[in-house]
Amino acid sequence: MESDPPAGVEAELRSKRMAYICWNDGASNFVEPGWEWFTCWRCGALVYTT
Ligand SMILES: [Zn+2]
Repeated sequence: MESDPPAGVEAELRSKRMAYICWNDGASNFVEPGWEWFTCWRCGALVYTT
């Protein structure tokens, strides 16, 4: 019943995600490997991971 290959790849990456601390409010954000940036779930600030 697995008919969605992209979802399978995403699930594999999800196990390796890391926590990044937002520079603005200190909230922990779980980020997928390979992401160069993300927006904080709490304050919406743009955070770079590299
Ligand atoms: Zn934040």
